[in-house]
Amino acid sequence: MKNKGIVFILSAPSGTGKTTACKLLRKKLPELKFSISHTTRSIREGEVEGVDYHFIPQKEFQEKIERGDFLEWAKVHSQYYGTTFETVDRHRQNGDDLLLELDVQGAQTLREANYEGTFIFLLPPSIKELEIRLQKRSTEPEEVIKARIEVSKNEVKKFNLYDYILTNSDLEETAEILLSIIRAERCRKSRYLPPSSDIRSLLNSKVNS
Ligand code: 5GP
Repeated sequence: MKNKGIVFILSAPSGTGKTTACKLLRKKLPELKFSISHTTRSIREGEVEGVDYHFIPQKEFQEKIERGDFLEWAKVHSQYYGTTFETVDRHRQNGDDLLLELDVQGAQTLREANYEGTFIFLLPPSIKELEIRLQKRSTEPEEVIKARIEVSKNEVKKFNLYDYILTNSDLEETAEILLSIIRAERCRKSRYLPPSSDIRSLLNSKVNS
């Protein structure tokens, strides 16, 4: 017998280093599955359709919303992002642990629906540091960076949605902590499946006081 897979929800303010931390985590834990979201944003250099995202036009995204295909969806920086039931259910049924990279709105949607998962929030060491990182990345103009910082501050205020909060000061350490969280969650009493009949019968028997 196998347990259903665990769903991990990971969020972070833009520029915190979530994508890079996940790349490291993937190397450390190759059996962990990563959910592939649908998005209306355009494909970036180096990204691959069906690997990083399913890139779809807005009309198709809208149709998916109307059909009820999405477990959750959100508008992030004027583009749409969503996770389909199909993606998540397929992995869970196989017993695979699955990581969803969601923005804070997506995490909030799942929390409010009492979705069963482990919610992890990755934060930068400081807002100042986040601003410096976004400026270094220099993919966006200054006013866009300012707007993103304001969004980030509001996201941080929603820390209570999460079960675990960690600071990304060092990528290697962050990936190690994520790995530890995943391993600890796998050992929860509620998920314990006795590997042998003798242990199983002990678990079902009364304690002699
Ligand atoms: P990016 O465009 O940089 O890949 O992602 C922008 C933001 O959208 C990130 O915070 C990312 O985690 C989030 N995101 C990616 N996929 C989904 C999704 O399916 N649902 C939600 N709510 N957010 C997502």
